[in-house]
Amino acid sequence: MSKTFASQADLEAKQVSFTKLSDNAYAYTAEGDPNTGVIIGDEAVMVIDTQATPVMAQDVIRRIREVTDKPIKYVVLSHYHAVRVLGASGYKPEHIIASRDTYDLIVERGEQDKASEIGRFPRLFQSVESVPPGLTWPTITFTGRMSVWLGKLEVQLIQLGRGHTKGDIVAWLPEQRILFSGDLVEFGATPYAGDAYFQDWPKTLDNIAALKPQALVPGRGAALTTPEQVAQGLAGTRAFVSDVYASVQAGVKAGKDLNSVYKETFAKLKPTYGHWVIFDHCMPFDVTRCYDEATQYADPRIWTAERDVEMWKTLEG
Ligand SMILES: [Zn+2]
Repeated sequence: MSKTFASQADLEAKQVSFTKLSDNAYAYTAEGDPNTGVIIGDEAVMVIDTQATPVMAQDVIRRIREVTDKPIKYVVLSHYHAVRVLGASGYKPEHIIASRDTYDLIVERGEQDKASEIGRFPRLFQSVESVPPGLTWPTITFTGRMSVWLGKLEVQLIQLGRGHTKGDIVAWLPEQRILFSGDLVEFGATPYAGDAYFQDWPKTLDNIAALKPQALVPGRGAALTTPEQVAQGLAGTRAFVSDVYASVQAGVKAGKDLNSVYKETFAKLKPTYGHWVIFDHCMPFDVTRCYDEATQYADPRIWTAERDVEMWKTLEG
């Protein structure tokens, strides 16, 4: 029997946790669903990744209001994916900050990504009708690094290299050594790599490790609250990305087509990573992108709702 497309059959609600990492930093996590980071400064609050809709953002705001009444002035987008950005309007922020590369990706493929992601994972777009028409546009963009001062609290936003997408940034509290990684690091959840740079990603993880975080909020999965857990999260993500790439590259070198490379890679990785959430969902997208990178496409090709379904039929039909 063929598998249901992407995560259309994933309908079970998850338990939300709001984990305190310091007086200034919190993690809104939900058993492997997309996380939101919260930084509370002297005068303002910053939210990192928004949830998928303004209605879903209300639950984050409810949690924030349990610990502070300071205004939510900043929304940071770790990257362009719809599930991370389409809740932004719910916070009514003064500013939405992203890298210039993320801005460019929104221009180039934001519309297609929105349609594709909503089709893949309906549960993650609860009350999708609350998303305003059009796209979520940053009001501030940067390349490399910038600091936002929430009063005396410095938040560094840093581009440490390509990985999950071309435009990934992390948010870093240098004094407290707390890092919000976006989807560059996952924990107990399968890294989605359909728009990734497989050869760059491990180097970017090295750059994260070099900051020596004491705590790390991954894109999906529980907050990592000790250096040992941080190392575990980095190692798991690195192993998955490297294993997919090694398997796909070996297949390509042997002259195999995408379909056989997919089946072999799936079988090879399933025993080690099959228990991570969204494994079955991610693998077809991840292997397709990896095969592209190992053959003829330096940059990820745009996913459309139609291309998604066509690919799924070819590999899983
Ligand atoms: Zn993502």
